[in-house]
Amino acid sequence: MALTSYAQQDDSLAIRRIADEILTNSKAYDNLRVLTKTIGGRLAGSPQMVKAEKWGEAALRDAGADKVYTQECMVPHWVRGDKEQARIISNRRDFVPPLNVTALGNSVGTGPKGVTASVIEVKSFDELESRKDEIKGKIVFYNYPFNPRFVKTFNAYGDAVKYRGQGPSRASKYGAVAVIVRSMSHSTDNHPHTGGTHYNDSFPKIAAVAIGLQDAERLSKRIAGDRSAKVFLRTTCEMRPDTIGHNIIGELRGSEFPDEYITVGGHLDSWDNCEGAHDDGAGCVQSIELLRAYKKLGIRPKRTVRVVLFANEENGTRGGRKYAELAKANNEKHLFALESDAGGFTPRGFMFEMETARRDKVKSWASLLLPYGIYDFDEVGGGVDVMPLHRELGIPVSELSPDSQRYFDIHHAASDVFEAVNKRELEMGAVAMSALIYLVDKYGL
Ligand SMILES: [Zn+2]
Repeated sequence: MALTSYAQQDDSLAIRRIADEILTNSKAYDNLRVLTKTIGGRLAGSPQMVKAEKWGEAALRDAGADKVYTQECMVPHWVRGDKEQARIISNRRDFVPPLNVTALGNSVGTGPKGVTASVIEVKSFDELESRKDEIKGKIVFYNYPFNPRFVKTFNAYGDAVKYRGQGPSRASKYGAVAVIVRSMSHSTDNHPHTGGTHYNDSFPKIAAVAIGLQDAERLSKRIAGDRSAKVFLRTTCEMRPDTIGHNIIGELRGSEFPDEYITVGGHLDSWDNCEGAHDDGAGCVQSIELLRAYKKLGIRPKRTVRVVLFANEENGTRGGRKYAELAKANNEKHLFALESDAGGFTPRGFMFEMETARRDKVKSWASLLLPYGIYDFDEVGGGVDVMPLHRELGIPVSELSPDSQRYFDIHHAASDVFEAVNKRELEMGAVAMSALIYLVDKYGL
């Protein structure tokens, strides 16, 4: 008993030192400023992606990594083209402002002439199926709102995102010419939110856009009250051949088991319509901050800690899959992998994808984490980029779980900018990650 409390006191002091270092000397916020303001949006395949890779290597070196290197992987190369155009056309002669839309990632364009068609609004796939005979030649408008009853907004996202992912092909099956999807958001503004869509190759690929929430309501009312209303839509996006991208990796070499790995990371790519500050610049700079703080404090982990800035999470997950593929091919021993990809907001806990016994072990550290507001260990989940390690190699994986109330206000929208990130909240996330990794390295899982 005495021994346990003594170790607990040691751990509590060690975590206090880490927190003090991050909360007083963090480079995370400055790093985020450089990434978002000098490079900005950095979609896979873009020139900004190449700049961001160089930035990542330099930032890891500055943080004190023992070794910095890259892993090559092929990435999709989707290009948005011209600014999207969408407007309501009607026999009425009133002035109708244009609709604020953004092409869905990976979608095809309408072609330079655009399409004009009547709009059929559906609230669900069930309604789509029941009205399948009315769809030919029309634009299908999926107007399915985020369910406000979910307290954790990621659950509302999980519930609604099928309309973005599958909506275009399911409408195309019945002859639709294009699709408009209500943005995956609780926001009160009118920014449209992009995100990847996934075509089913059995049906023609049709253009697909997301619409801001105010305009979703406006369009819904208009088509209900004006039978002559049509929508003109023009997008010129296209998918080009795959190109080369890289995972950017910095290591802090382990003192006792240098050939055993603990991975910590975020994804370096972002959508092109924003600065990708919360998604996922935050996760990148928090992971780099962990390495910087350990190095500065002389904390030498037993296992090698690898900070990974993953390529191409948003529209392909190729970086995360390549990382697991190489870990498997090289017979690497991985203990644990943690990702931060849920926004740079105040941390509340961690999600885990692993056995109950391991989760119980994390819960036994609860009193060490509670002083930093970390208490929620019950959600099941892991970051998209570390999940392949779990699926392919059975590695326990985790994702930082910040407060989720504001994330989908800005997710994949033009409002995901540096100014939307709070310095203290960002740093608290880095504290939480650094504390968890300290304990996992010391005690195993
Ligand atoms: Zn993300």
